[in-house]
Amino acid sequence: MPRRCTVCDHPERHSIDEALVTGTPYRSVAKRFGLSESAVYRHKVEHLPAHLLKAEEAKEVAQADDLLEQVKHLQGRALDILERAEKAGDLRTALAAISQARGNLELLAKLAGELDERPVVNLNVSPEWLELRAVIVAALEPHSDARGAVLRALEAGGNGSA
Ligand SMILES: [Zn+2]
Repeated sequence: MPRRCTVCDHPERHSIDEALVTGTPYRSVAKRFGLSESAVYRHKVEHLPAHLLKAEEAKEVAQADDLLEQVKHLQGRALDILERAEKAGDLRTALAAISQARGNLELLAKLAGELDERPVVNLNVSPEWLELRAVIVAALEPHSDARGAVLRALEAGGNGSA
């Protein structure tokens, strides 16, 4: 489009867009802002959707920032509760606070884009694995050679790859 849009160039473009979005007839908008009806109409049809889209994107970014702030605030509260519960020897509350803080951390990481949705299994800290490992090691107690071999294999497998 070679011709400049007098509405896009207008210093009160935001107010004009707002009026159009809220359903003010383009004729009234044209009159109120001293523009030609055809210019307002063309702007409404050809340019307004793009402006709205941009505004919507900006809003989403702002909302994400807001969400991040809220989770950070929640995290501060959870850690505060944890500290107080620990001081008071209230383990039950402390545990709940830890669980809450952990959830907040995951959310923070997700919001920061550092964590994708794929589940990552870390065998070395999984309680089921530690239990199984203890059972295996205990069962091999009388067979020291086999036990040593299994332990070495487990160490190698657990630390080497992944
Ligand atoms: Zn325009």
